[in-house]
Amino acid sequence: MKNEIINNAEKVIATTYKRFPIVIKKGNGCTLWDTEDRVYTDFVAGIAVCNIGHAHPGISKALSLQSDTLFHVSNLYYTIPQVELASWLVENSFADRVFFCNSGAEANEAAIKLARKYFKDKGETGRFRIIAMDKSFHGRTMATLSATGQDKIKKGFEPLLEGFDFVPFNEIEALRNKIEPSTCAVIIEPIQGEGGVRCPDPEYLKNVRQICDVTGTLLIFDEIQTGMGRTGKLFAYEHFGIEPDIMTLAKALANGLPIGAMLAKEHVASAFGHGSHASTFGGTPIVTAASLEVVKVLTEDKIIDRCLKVGEYFKEKLMWLKSRHESIEDVRGIGLLLGMKLKKKGDSVVMNCMEKGFLINCIQENILRFIPPLTIGKDEIDSLVTCLDEILDDT
Ligand SMILES: *Cc1c(COP(=O)(O)O)cnc(C)c1O
Repeated sequence: MKNEIINNAEKVIATTYKRFPIVIKKGNGCTLWDTEDRVYTDFVAGIAVCNIGHAHPGISKALSLQSDTLFHVSNLYYTIPQVELASWLVENSFADRVFFCNSGAEANEAAIKLARKYFKDKGETGRFRIIAMDKSFHGRTMATLSATGQDKIKKGFEPLLEGFDFVPFNEIEALRNKIEPSTCAVIIEPIQGEGGVRCPDPEYLKNVRQICDVTGTLLIFDEIQTGMGRTGKLFAYEHFGIEPDIMTLAKALANGLPIGAMLAKEHVASAFGHGSHASTFGGTPIVTAASLEVVKVLTEDKIIDRCLKVGEYFKEKLMWLKSRHESIEDVRGIGLLLGMKLKKKGDSVVMNCMEKGFLINCIQENILRFIPPLTIGKDEIDSLVTCLDEILDDT
């Protein structure tokens, strides 16, 4: 069965993803099963998406109730779950308004459009340039690709959108020197995810905020990966004692159903009027009902505080591994967004872990990334660490 599915997939599915040779058929909590009934502990969580685990009974109940009631009617009308979710996000963040869409890239598209329109409306018509960071990742649509600081993903799609400048992440003077009167916004991941789980120095983002304040530039935080509890706070900006003007969310917001959101302060959000921007499926009742259940579970089960503590435990274990293995260069990250940089390529380690029943992920060729459901147990972490300890020397 497995080989037949894989052979068919290779015939009919676009070859944009290099996939591992397993077919996953079922999940529960932090565990996945493939079609051969092999069991895996999931340290990938659909790439930081399934924060409250697979097949969560609360979500399946919320979905089944909502699907018996109303799937979709379009944003020509008000619907209850969408209003409730927007209210929750506004109450629990710096923002005053929310625009809903369906993915991370779309949320960043909306942020880029909003930043440009904000200055056009103010009559500053030449102010459209956006500064992004080297090694950033903001998505695969043309505008978000233009904002992404990784040449290997941009190659072949030129010409990209005009008006994007790049500076090294975590180097404040480079940003100060790059800002011009034509700069409308700075877009930044508070912690770079795809770029290699790169954390800024404690004062860096405060200084970015200050430069933006002095120059009247909008600050956009892409919290698509870091948001919704992943770093041990609801949003990563809370670690740094500052707030952005615009923030984007997606991945974990509905635990696996497609959703994106762009949040902004009132004076910025008001640049979008009737008809400025739109999305057919954005904030549709079925998806926002699932997301409402996600935020309820995150709050009631105190999952975010737990994430911070379990993350510390996990990081200590990774540091212990580093003390035992020459091949580990660095351990980094916060909460359950953790990375371990190797002095060699990581793909064989990932394969070996998979064979032993653990799904982990490798980015930038040599950085192992650990982004399990936030409900991961210490015993599951211990088992992975034992597995890594065994395989690291002989791969
Ligand atoms: C995943 C990700 C995106 C893109 O999200 P899609 O839903 O794949 O479009 C953008 N920014 C960051 C930081 C991400 O991690």
